[in-house]
Amino acid sequence: MSEIKHNWTTQEILNIYKKPMMELLYEAATIHRLHHDPNTVQVSTLLSIKTGGCSEDCGYCPQAARYHTNVEGNDLMTVQHVKAQALRAKSGGSSRVCMGAAWRNVKDGEEFDQVLEMVRTINKLDMEVCCTLGMVTENQAKRLAEAGLYAYNHNLDSSEDYYKKVISTRGFEDRLKTIDNVRKTNVTVCSGGIIGMGEKVEDRAGMLVALSTLNPQPESTPINALVAVEGTPLEDQQPIEIWDMIRMVATTRIVMPETQVRLSAGRTQMTREGQALCFFAGANSIFAGDKLLTTPNPEVSEDLKMFETLGLNPQKPFTKKGQPQTVEAADSKIEALGEKPKWTRPEHKIERNELAKQNRKLSQ
Ligand code: SF4
Repeated sequence: MSEIKHNWTTQEILNIYKKPMMELLYEAATIHRLHHDPNTVQVSTLLSIKTGGCSEDCGYCPQAARYHTNVEGNDLMTVQHVKAQALRAKSGGSSRVCMGAAWRNVKDGEEFDQVLEMVRTINKLDMEVCCTLGMVTENQAKRLAEAGLYAYNHNLDSSEDYYKKVISTRGFEDRLKTIDNVRKTNVTVCSGGIIGMGEKVEDRAGMLVALSTLNPQPESTPINALVAVEGTPLEDQQPIEIWDMIRMVATTRIVMPETQVRLSAGRTQMTREGQALCFFAGANSIFAGDKLLTTPNPEVSEDLKMFETLGLNPQKPFTKKGQPQTVEAADSKIEALGEKPKWTRPEHKIERNELAKQNRKLSQ
């Protein structure tokens, strides 16, 4: 088994990314087979437990309140609703539920307590539970861990340089700090990014440097292709070519051999053949369900057909790491601290974000 390298440089990663396609595929597939069962793919369901109305200015996101998109906001889902959705996901073959809330950061209080109850409920269904709730403090990460959280998602989105051209309301260093806070618990880390936002290949490599030099590397890395949504600052971005996705997946596999590489947003734009090449290149996780938070995703039945055609099997829950224990709220040993952490707000001007904000005002 190859060793995990934690000192990748941008140039080394670019050299991999730019290899002739057949060599890249062969190398990635070989490494994939050393670390994973090539015929097993994890199936996760992404559930938007609180949609829209977000205060941030992420240029790709239709949930940002400042842009004019068709996303209808809703309040935090009830625990019962989440349980029903999780059971549905389980019967559709998902082994993991990832709950997303359009928040800048977690705030202690009733809503967070409700999310902790959702975590307990899903863990008791013997499914892996992941949350993506924005920035978290160490204390909040510990409370999530105590409730039975399996993974926390916090994407780096792009290279540190390009991140600043997409988001101005939260800093890259806060992303790393959140990952660090999660690492102080036994919760696994899910972190990746988006390609097709107008970044250069150097930025794609830069993002992989930031992820692969984390020690340990993330257990899971989603690779999203931008879904350009009308009304967002990135609405005019052209879809990336499938070859970019395959190169990105293969390169991620090579630099992070043990990580589960997740085909995420943008799968509806990919053919089955394209997805098959991504699996060959080392992708071993997908999101199931007809929606990914707010953007379209292939139907579960289409994925099942694809699995059958390719002879793929869904990964069983807790294959990579044992099931965490759930501590009930009444038995919790970790108190909420009611912290008010000073997450950064760089607030530099991003022209296209400003323009999209103005367009919203004009449309009102
Ligand atoms: S990506 Fe998350 S933090 Fe950014 S605007 Fe969307 S919901 Fe808010």
